[in-house]
Amino acid sequence: MRNPLATQSLFELSRPGRRAALFPKSDVPRRPLDDLLPAEQLAPAPPPLPELTEPDVVRHFVNLSTLNMSVDTHFYPLGSCTMKYNPKRHERLARLPGLVDLHPYQADEDAQGMLSVLYEMQELLAEISGLPAVSLQPAAGAQGELAALLVAAAWFRERGETRTKVLFPASAHGTNPASAALAGFECVQLESGRRGLVDLEELGSALDERTAAFMITNPNTLGLFEREIAKISGMLHDVGGLVYIDGANLNAILGVTRPGDFGGDMMHFNVHKTFTGPHGAGGPGAGPIAVKDFLADYLPGPLVERIGDNGQPPRYRLKTPAKSIGRLRTFFGNVGILLRGYYYLRTLGPDGLRAVAENAVLNANYLKSLLEGILPVPHGKRCMHEFVASAKRLKEERGISAMDIAKRLLDYGFHAPTVYFPLVVPEAMMMEPTETESKETLDAFAAAIHKIVEEDPDFLHQAPHTTPVSRPDEVLAARKPVLCWRDA
Ligand SMILES: *Cc1c(COP(=O)(O)O)cnc(C)c1O
Repeated sequence: MRNPLATQSLFELSRPGRRAALFPKSDVPRRPLDDLLPAEQLAPAPPPLPELTEPDVVRHFVNLSTLNMSVDTHFYPLGSCTMKYNPKRHERLARLPGLVDLHPYQADEDAQGMLSVLYEMQELLAEISGLPAVSLQPAAGAQGELAALLVAAAWFRERGETRTKVLFPASAHGTNPASAALAGFECVQLESGRRGLVDLEELGSALDERTAAFMITNPNTLGLFEREIAKISGMLHDVGGLVYIDGANLNAILGVTRPGDFGGDMMHFNVHKTFTGPHGAGGPGAGPIAVKDFLADYLPGPLVERIGDNGQPPRYRLKTPAKSIGRLRTFFGNVGILLRGYYYLRTLGPDGLRAVAENAVLNANYLKSLLEGILPVPHGKRCMHEFVASAKRLKEERGISAMDIAKRLLDYGFHAPTVYFPLVVPEAMMMEPTETESKETLDAFAAAIHKIVEEDPDFLHQAPHTTPVSRPDEVLAARKPVLCWRDA
């Protein structure tokens, strides 16, 4: 049973005179405020703050914190977001006093431990990507995309080339065209993405001497591996363009293949997805980028450099590349998340990383097989780390939409999958179970969906029914306030 007071605001709980702490009477003579501030800057009365005891406040916030869904409390198959379990050991390590107490302005000499870790992180990401030069600066996947496109633009500018177009398939993540536009490029969408994979003929006719880059996600957001990727890369290189790999979905190929080996010139990582930085609700993130050697001079700095090997223990220093596009983030990037990613990589090692990919793919295919009967998957017999099912048939036959199923899943204690993305699948439900889920969890999730689709469609349109906040939906909004607290 939920505490009936838990759904009230602090203002509703307020009672005049209640306090969390009582201070002794001041023995400092009181000066009227009018002496200190001009009258027109004084409010007529103090702000109406709620008056509460300490237990009132603690219970309020602890109760609020339990109303949310998180990876630590629920299965969270949010496709493309890789909501895998975040190991607590790495949380502890990232909080070691020697790391968290370091000041970013501390001299390189006094920060050798931190710099050595960041240097190793650069090296690990270079190895995983097959791309030798890494900048840890960008604070998110989207910022990594922007950084890499600015690097490409700087390179073309230096070569005196005017290249204005960036291409991407229709299934691309929305950040791809957004980053291209922000970097000053014209966006060209390939419609073949709708059929699941890039069509080489369509790509060929879109390529010309004005093409700067092709942004491609591999495996793509439909959970399919672009098998022609080496040919695609060759086609770009033939016209002098670059291949950008959106590496947000690296989970499926870790230790199996590398973007640098299949033709990528630049890519970003989502440390908060693939390498278990805790994320959700908008942050925090880390989106390092890796590029080929010829682009290294343009990377956002500072990078960490290793110096003076000859018999001495290695030293590390910060260095900004000669023609750097500049900074995207203060200091060294989101170090807290980079550290968690570093520990994750060190804990797993090469064999562990490959096992991550294999199990992520196995889990996705297992879940797909449990659901295909009711939620067909239009693209692909086998998937990689995720698959995109469609509720189109259910919608046509019984009026049950992807949104209805997603909302009702909350009542069953599961976070919803990503819905209505990618846009190329009608009534899309994009499911990414990740490798950290057990067979029992996947079975229970599939069983819930099987039950849900047998429920009364009108009942489903009103779901969720047991959560403290109801559906902020256009249908309900016509009748009720948009966000309404349920009676306890
Ligand atoms: C998550 C994601 C991004 C953007 O990453 P952010 O860290 O959220 O900015 C880009 N592309 C794909 C395919 C993604 O899944």
